[in-house]
Amino acid sequence: MGFVPTMGALHQGHLSLVDRSLKENEITLVSIFVNPTQFGPSEEFKKYPRSLDSDLEMLKPYASTMVFAPPVNQIYPRPLTETTGVCVPKLSNLLCGRTRPGHFDGVCTVVLRLFNMIRPDRVYFGEKDFQQFTILKRMAEDLFLPIDIVACPIVRELDGLAMSSRNRFLSPENRRQAAMIYRSLSLAQKLYRSGDRDPSVITSSCKLFLTENSSIKIDYLTIVDSVTLEEKINVDASDRIVFAGFLGSTRLIDNLQIG
Ligand code: AMP
Repeated sequence: MGFVPTMGALHQGHLSLVDRSLKENEITLVSIFVNPTQFGPSEEFKKYPRSLDSDLEMLKPYASTMVFAPPVNQIYPRPLTETTGVCVPKLSNLLCGRTRPGHFDGVCTVVLRLFNMIRPDRVYFGEKDFQQFTILKRMAEDLFLPIDIVACPIVRELDGLAMSSRNRFLSPENRRQAAMIYRSLSLAQKLYRSGDRDPSVITSSCKLFLTENSSIKIDYLTIVDSVTLEEKINVDASDRIVFAGFLGSTRLIDNLQIG
């Protein structure tokens, strides 16, 4: 059994995970669950888009796919303040963890619960959420989970913007500017190809490009090791340039392998 955990509001990025799972497994199960424990008190748990009917419609053409869309009290039968949790320290405090304390603890907690309920052989995650993938892979290793954690490439719009359930919150002007994120990350790849190895030189050019071409507020734009997520002194081909920032009140993330 292959398992694709999602929070719904499905798009082609999610469906690419379903496609991959269908190729590699007899049965595929997609979960749709907006997980309350991964949202901070000021974050948009209530505002997060929910569209179960159209999600089910999108999954209809996929034969041998099951959908699991539980209510909150099935996953968390006890009050959330009394719930048993899982934490992958260090990795969870870097990058997005700096501004979203507790976010990845909530992610690990719900994913382990889902794993134990569903008992899949393989689980499919998008590289779009690269830190999340890295943390969940570490959790599976550390807890000896008998599950393959599979990473799938980022699916993008024609102009390069990574598909995301949050893109629907962007105004037309902000949507136009959002394409600059991919262009700035691609610039890092170009600089690497032309011989630059100093991360601060590369990221300074990317930041300058973004500030000159958009009103994006950068949370972080940095180059990290793809396993430890630590910042680099010298850039290698396998490193990742990772970005998070705001366009208006919408938080967007993206990343690319540098080489
Ligand atoms: P979410 O519903 O946002 O929690 O995402 C569910 C899964 O879909 C996660 O593993 C994401 O990384 C993955 N995903 C979301 N957007 C994309 C995308 N544009 N390309 C590939 N995978 C994606």
